[in-house]
Amino acid sequence: MNFLRFDDGGVPRYGRLDGEMVAPLDAAPWEGGEAAGRPIPLAGLTLLPPVPPGGKVLCIGRNYLAHAKELGNEVPAEPLVFLKPSTSLLAHGGTVVLPPESERVDFEGELALVIGRRARRVGREAFADVVFGITPALDISARDLQKKDGQWWRAKGFDTFCPCGPVVATGVDASDLGLRTILDGAVKQDGRTSRMIFDLPALVSWVSQAMTLEPGDLLLTGTPEGVGPLAPGQLLELEIEGLPRLSVRVEKEG
Ligand code: MG
Repeated sequence: MNFLRFDDGGVPRYGRLDGEMVAPLDAAPWEGGEAAGRPIPLAGLTLLPPVPPGGKVLCIGRNYLAHAKELGNEVPAEPLVFLKPSTSLLAHGGTVVLPPESERVDFEGELALVIGRRARRVGREAFADVVFGITPALDISARDLQKKDGQWWRAKGFDTFCPCGPVVATGVDASDLGLRTILDGAVKQDGRTSRMIFDLPALVSWVSQAMTLEPGDLLLTGTPEGVGPLAPGQLLELEIEGLPRLSVRVEKEG
């Protein structure tokens, strides 16, 4: 099933996508939200990021061999983890804003896991219980600041640097899905999730050793090779096999 979040007259609401219609839910789908109220046509809705603000956005770096190599990096011996602030979340249809502090902002297309249950120090066998679903996500990265700053707080953390959605899909085996990043209609990244260095159950287990995972948290799982720079006016899209495409525009700040 596909779930989304939308603006209902200023009130954020979860919904279940049924074809071209959205059934509003009375709670988050990972909290057992049930359909309540009349279905609404998808076409008229303003979508929000599919997870609520305030949660964690955990990210894995260098989790595909060819991507680690293209940036001249070593393959990590353990998963390389960093965080993006939840203020970096951007909905489908939104605009990635290129900040004046950076001269090189890259796209990175990634599969993201949506956490559905609290978890701490779990093993890989807990994967199916802990993960609610998957969503496409873009780890927008100011590459020059990533190299310059010791911490990646702003290189990865500017507002709008984490587009995701439009939906969270459940019941999908994410272990071998095609992932394509498309810039102005040209395919720039064309990978498969099966080529990750650390697989999905390993990543969830690893991050849960350090901090409690909570419902609505996101875990971005790394990007395949083919990353490249963004420019104002571009249309950036991410397609994960079997899911609706994530589309955002790119503009300069101001
Ligand atoms: Mg990344």
